[in-house]
Amino acid sequence: MNVLVLNCGSSSAKFAVIDSASGAERISGIAQRLDSPHATLDWKLDGHRHSRDIHHADHDVALRAVVELLRGVGLADDLAGVGHRVVHGGARFSGSMPITEEVVAKIEECIPLGPLHNPPNLRGIQISQELFPKLPQVAVFDTAFHQSMPPRAYLYAVPYEWFENHEVRRYGFHGTSHRYVSEQAVRLLGLPPNDHRLVTAHLGNGCSLAAVHDGKSVDTTMGLTPLDGVVMGTRSGSIDPSIIAHMKKALHRGADHVMDQLNKRSGLLGISGLSNDMRTLQEAAANGHERAALAIEKFCYSVAKAAAGMVVSLGRLDALVFTGGIGENATLVRAKVVELLGFLGITLDPELNVIHGKGYNGRITQATGPQVIVVPTNEELMIAMDTAEIIAAERRAA
Ligand code: ADP
Repeated sequence: MNVLVLNCGSSSAKFAVIDSASGAERISGIAQRLDSPHATLDWKLDGHRHSRDIHHADHDVALRAVVELLRGVGLADDLAGVGHRVVHGGARFSGSMPITEEVVAKIEECIPLGPLHNPPNLRGIQISQELFPKLPQVAVFDTAFHQSMPPRAYLYAVPYEWFENHEVRRYGFHGTSHRYVSEQAVRLLGLPPNDHRLVTAHLGNGCSLAAVHDGKSVDTTMGLTPLDGVVMGTRSGSIDPSIIAHMKKALHRGADHVMDQLNKRSGLLGISGLSNDMRTLQEAAANGHERAALAIEKFCYSVAKAAAGMVVSLGRLDALVFTGGIGENATLVRAKVVELLGFLGITLDPELNVIHGKGYNGRITQATGPQVIVVPTNEELMIAMDTAEIIAAERRAA
C-alpha cells in the first residue's frame, strides 16, 4: 500500500510516498527554509529533480503545496495512510502508534524533553489530519526502539528524584534507523533472528551507536537529548558536565549560549575550525590541514571507544553495522574505526571496504570472526512499513 511519510522539522518538511510492500519510492522531496523569503519545494520523481519557489510558506502552506503536487502526479487519491516521524516519545511509547487524541496529548507531554522537535512534529500531524481527514495517521518515534534498554543502561547516576520527578534518563534516538539496519544486517549475514548481538553505528550529521541483542536495543549512546554520546558534525557528544559551569563563568554568558555552542559549534566543526562535513574534512586533511586530520582522528577514536563500550552490554559481538552518510560512504573512517577495534578479532578486507554496496551485500570483513557490514539506512521505508502494518491490523480488527 502507498503511504505518505512526513517528517516535519522546525524549518522544513520532508515527504515521501512509499509502497510499503515493495519499498519503491513513488516521490520524495523537501519543503525547506520555511517562513523565509527563500522557501522552496524540491522533489524527485522518476529519477528527475524539480524545484519551485514557495516564498514565505509556513508548514501549513508547504504541506498544502505537497498535497497539490501529489494530486498533480496522481498519487493523492491512492494513499492508504500517513506515517509521521516523531522525535521524542519519552518513556510513553515503546512502538509506533495510530494517532488518537490521547497519543497527541502524550506527544505534547514530551515537549519539555524534545522542545525543538516535537512542536513541528505535532504541527505536521495537525495539518495532515486537516488535509487527509479520512486517512489513518501513525506516529513512529525515534526513541521507541530504545525503550527495551534495562535500567543500568538508561539511568544516569544523578539523584534518583531527577529520574522520578523530571524524567531525566537516557532515551536514545535514531531508533528507526538502528532498527532498520539491524534487521537488514541479520537478514544479509544470515544470523539467527533469536540469537544475534550487533553494534549499529549511525554516523551522519548526528551520530549514535546502539547495542542490539536479539532484535532489541539494550544500550545506546545518545541520552536525554541527541547531544550525548559520540563526537558528531557540530555536537560535542559526551563531555565533563563541569565544562558548562566553567565556560559560563569564563565567557560571562548564560547556559543557553554554552549549550548552543555545544550543539552547533562543536564536534567535527569545533575541532577542525573548518567544517562539519566529513567530505570537506577528508579533502582538507589530505591537503595537510592538521586540525581537519585531528577532527577525523578524534571522531574515529570516539566511535571505536563507544562501539567497544556497546560490546560490554552484549557480552559478544557478531557484527558491527555502519550506516548514515559517513557510515555508508566514508571508507577511511570505517577503516580507522575497525583498525581500533582489531582487538575484538575483527579484520577489515580493504578491497571489500572500497567496493561495498556496489552489487555486494555490504560485508567488508573476511567471512570469519565478527563481521562488519555497511547497510544504507532507510528510515522512510521503516515508517511506511510500520504505518502499513498498523493500518492492516486496524482493518482486520474492524
Ligand atoms: P543527516 O544526519 O543530516 O541525515 P547524513 O546521514 O546525510 O546526514 O550524513 C552527512 C554526513 O555524511 C556528512 O558529514 C557528509 O560529509 C558525509 N558524507 C556523505 N557522503 C560522503 C562521502 N562520499 N565520503 C565521506 N563522507 C560523506
